Amino acid sequence: MKILIVEDEAKTADYLRQGLTENGFVVDIATNGVDGRHLAIEHDYDLLVLDVMLPQLDGWGVLKALRERKDTPVIFLTARERVEDRVKGLGLGADDYLQKPFAFSELLARVRALLKRSKGREPDVVRIGDLEVDLLHRKVFRAGARIDLTAKEFALLALLLRHQGEALSRTSIAEQVWDINFDGDTNVVEVAMRRLRSKVDDPFDKKLLHTVRGVGYVIEDRGT
Ligand code: CA
Repeated sequence: MKILIVEDEAKTADYLRQGLTENGFVVDIATNGVDGRHLAIEHDYDLLVLDVMLPQLDGWGVLKALRERKDTPVIFLTARERVEDRVKGLGLGADDYLQKPFAFSELLARVRALLKRSKGREPDVVRIGDLEVDLLHRKVFRAGARIDLTAKEFALLALLLRHQGEALSRTSIAEQVWDINFDGDTNVVEVAMRRLRSKVDDPFDKKLLHTVRGVGYVIEDRGT
């Protein structure tokens, strides 16, 4: 899941990035409204965390431009205890808001609730063969035994699972699992894939992760 944070205060942005990354999200940051608008419209994010007071273009401007084109869920951050702000934000099409200062745990709970609502049709638990993945609580089991994955390994597995049976290119994986500062070296994808396989596939007879020559990777139950 990919989240864009539009926030000019470096401290807040770093704090949010760290917390969200630790919880398995891929995070991009824009530090002004113009960059935020551009990224939100040109890229596909699962959710935006949008500050209201921003240089160049305020959060309302970003939200307005975004809503003319996309339904990406938006949580806006307001520093002011003003009812008008909340009404304005929700009126412009924001899905939720948080008043600064807020606890990270509250933001995380709202992010999860909003994603659950927006991805309503997506199941929380996905199974393929004897692999069971709880996407919401980020738990992985194979043949009933718990497997511990790093945040990146989990993000990679979740992406492949959302596209079961569909081969994904290394470039497309890199775009969706790494943030915008990723240098495009797809070896990193291969290394992460090898680590994921060593945990999810290597100890088992039946392989679920497959390399598609010249394309990339797919997760698929190919029978026995
Ligand atoms: Ca601000």
